[in-house]
Amino acid sequence: MTDNIFLKIARHEIPANIVFEDDRVVAFKDINPQAPVHILIIPRTEAIPTLNDLKPENKDLVGHMFLVAKKLAAEFGIAEDGYRCVINCNEGAGQSVFQLHMHVLGGRPMGWPPG
Ligand code: AMP
Repeated sequence: MTDNIFLKIARHEIPANIVFEDDRVVAFKDINPQAPVHILIIPRTEAIPTLNDLKPENKDLVGHMFLVAKKLAAEFGIAEDGYRCVINCNEGAGQSVFQLHMHVLGGRPMGWPPG
């Protein structure tokens, strides 16, 4: 398995504030939160560096990531006011960790367009 810091979190080799995990994903609080609720959801079983690396066989995994985002938004009390799910792809979009991850942000008003 190609390694990265998020896969080490998924394997519990380095600490993180994990809020949900199952056989396919791990969700944990962002270490540098940009909103009162800022959770990252990652695939736990395989290295997928960027959105560009997604394969057709990953479609169930990505659907599952969104269902986990919806569940966590409800649990963290941001579902009704609103929240944002973001995947940054490559440096130009601000990606800094090269394991596919979905940001779930909420708890404050969100501007548009994003910077
Ligand atoms: P991105 O810029 O889209 O690649 O997002 C990477 C995110 O990972 C940033 O929001 C970082 O604050 C966050 N991050 C980096 N290292 C850790 C870590 N060890 N635990 C939790 N979040 C992290």
